[in-house]
Amino acid sequence: MHKPTHLARALALAALLAPVAWAATPTATMGMSTTPGTTQAAPAATQSALLARALSLADATENQVIEWRRHIHANPELSYEEVNTARYIAEALGQMPGIEIQTGVAKTGIKAVLKGGKPGPVVALRADMDALPVRENADFRFRSQVKAQWRGQETYVSHACGHDTHVAMLLGAAKALSEMRADLPGTVVFLFQPAEELGPGPVPSGAKAMMDAGVLDNPKVDVVMGQHINAQAPSGSLRYRQGAMMASGDAFNITINGKGGHGSSPWTSNTPTLAAAEIVLGLQNIASHRLNPMDPDGPTVVTVGLLQSGNRVNILPDTAEIGGTVRSLSVRGQKIAHDQIRLRAEKIAESYGMTADVRIDTGYEVLKNDPAATAAIVSALKAAAGPDKATEMPPTMGSEDFGSFGSTGVPVVFWNLNASPNGDKPGAPNHSTDFAIDESALRIGTRALTGATIAQLESRQAR
Ligand SMILES: [Zn+2]
Ligand SMILES: [Zn+2]
Repeated sequence: MHKPTHLARALALAALLAPVAWAATPTATMGMSTTPGTTQAAPAATQSALLARALSLADATENQVIEWRRHIHANPELSYEEVNTARYIAEALGQMPGIEIQTGVAKTGIKAVLKGGKPGPVVALRADMDALPVRENADFRFRSQVKAQWRGQETYVSHACGHDTHVAMLLGAAKALSEMRADLPGTVVFLFQPAEELGPGPVPSGAKAMMDAGVLDNPKVDVVMGQHINAQAPSGSLRYRQGAMMASGDAFNITINGKGGHGSSPWTSNTPTLAAAEIVLGLQNIASHRLNPMDPDGPTVVTVGLLQSGNRVNILPDTAEIGGTVRSLSVRGQKIAHDQIRLRAEKIAESYGMTADVRIDTGYEVLKNDPAATAAIVSALKAAAGPDKATEMPPTMGSEDFGSFGSTGVPVVFWNLNASPNGDKPGAPNHSTDFAIDESALRIGTRALTGATIAQLESRQAR
């Protein structure tokens, strides 16, 4: 997951302030969830015997999940360097009967397949494995003290986005599902993906690389699901969304080529500083004048974060550089923004007698949850967390490379697992040095993955 914009923060805050009854830590066991202050259990009709058993088996993995998580947390590795992490995962999967393991997928990724004893659809579950060049500010025993090379410099590395927990919870779900494999009506594919954090650039991020490696074929996957942890809301609650949930994330770079000279006589040169200023303003007009604010999929944001030219007050430079990001919940809006960035940069530069080289790196696709596939797991999420603790969320302008799995038309479902360590107050944001989670949420996350898989298998059986 990538840092959201201010708008996303505002939406997240709005969601936090929404009148949702956040009760204390859930007391869900055996799939029969109860919430303090109510006596209402999850609707019995929505809980099959298979789901109840799956949740119970997921609960039984809790201590093991925490042990796995602590080991991975203490041994973080950067994008496409998850060698020891992958080896550790493969060893854990190797203990689980019925699971076929394929390593070295998209460099360090793993695809593992569990065939159920009954015929049925194919459901894939994905966890990302990579850590970030962030120094962890924590004092617990398993904190990261690891350093690695990052852009030519030795840097502290830590799981500041919580991908260690994603791996551990997916291993927990694999264990639970493997134990009930004889009764599983279908096949489950476990995807341990490298390099989610790579960002837009010439090297594709892990989800795209896994797709290119064909992980959704043989067996042909019918739906891909995943979850992301954060510390923004009370521990053990889940947030899902039908439709566009997270924005695409692209980077653009514009180089304006002019001719420098002396600051005292600008008419003898053709310096690009003024053209750069006009292009920045032109880019800011895209959202207000070329994009429909009522786009049903959601908004598009264009921001400039880099503007560089010159190095001395009386020297007019030859070139200027502009860089920024496009975030969009709408594939339509994303395309319009790209076209307009090119057009405006090139035409404004041309009007000054200059050229503009425009490069746009498409990083992350819009993460758009399939409405039917999402509806199929809502009751399982409620059974996993408690009836009032799995709620629909607003979209965010943050990005996540899980969107790539849905870009070729395969239905995807993604949800958030909240794990604030501060009770009702939010914890530190993902990617920060203080990022920390409440480990008791991992049981809920494992229940969610396991339960949603059963719900998906059963719903696709019924179609
Ligand atoms: Zn992240
Ligand atoms: Zn992340």
